[in-house]
Amino acid sequence: MGLVGNNLYQPELGAPSRLETVHCENYLWDLWHDRLDDKAMRRIGLPWSVPLMARTFTAPLGTLKTAELALNHGIACHLAGGTHHAHYDFGSGFCMVNDLAFTAHELINAGKVHNVLIFDLDVHQGDGTAAMCQHNPYIFTCSIHCEKNFPFRKVSSDLDIGLPNHIQDAEYLAIVHETLEGLLQDVNPDIVLYDAGVDVWEHDGLGKLDITWQGIEKRDALVLKTCQQYGVPVATVIGGGYDSDHLRLAKRHAIVVSQAARL
Ligand SMILES: [Zn+2]
Repeated sequence: MGLVGNNLYQPELGAPSRLETVHCENYLWDLWHDRLDDKAMRRIGLPWSVPLMARTFTAPLGTLKTAELALNHGIACHLAGGTHHAHYDFGSGFCMVNDLAFTAHELINAGKVHNVLIFDLDVHQGDGTAAMCQHNPYIFTCSIHCEKNFPFRKVSSDLDIGLPNHIQDAEYLAIVHETLEGLLQDVNPDIVLYDAGVDVWEHDGLGKLDITWQGIEKRDALVLKTCQQYGVPVATVIGGGYDSDHLRLAKRHAIVVSQAARL
């Protein structure tokens, strides 16, 4: 609360019907009612529960609300979202529904924007987002990720940059900066949806890069400032991050919010 003051918003509660614009109806309702088979649940990797469903179906509406706030205020941050491994009719890698694909399509269909850039810096490739947006010429997907990491069968984004294991701050930040500037110039998006995954951290449980805590701070400041310089609204989602120390993990996810609060 210290970071955000009174500027705190809540999305409406989610339900399967709200996501039928981008996901398979049968999949959504089978997930909601715990009717998916064991294989499908193993692929998701989380045990089904009522609170998990509430969170899962509400988070995409939070991403949409964040994007709408960003369109009005320039920058807005979501305290969830970034479930980029969710596909049209199946979930994967702790992701069940795809908030990024949902939000991009909603904004375009509602006429709120002409085009969207999804800039995904989670350490894992954004395969679900790529698959769900590849038919839409008004959504540009970019994923900068660790090449030799999950998902091992990748789906092509509009731009993929696969990084080698153990890349360090300076090289990583240069790639992020150069790529983002190029995309803001070439794609000229009306909004950036920024997946600020913090599993690029050197001590993350599932990342394989050597990005320091300060490196993540610099990265998030860089992305936000660059969007601001180009006059493009940016909505952030937290993406991935893995740590048995949950307080430390929450602080890591808060980096992007603290960098936004400084602008
Ligand atoms: Zn990840």
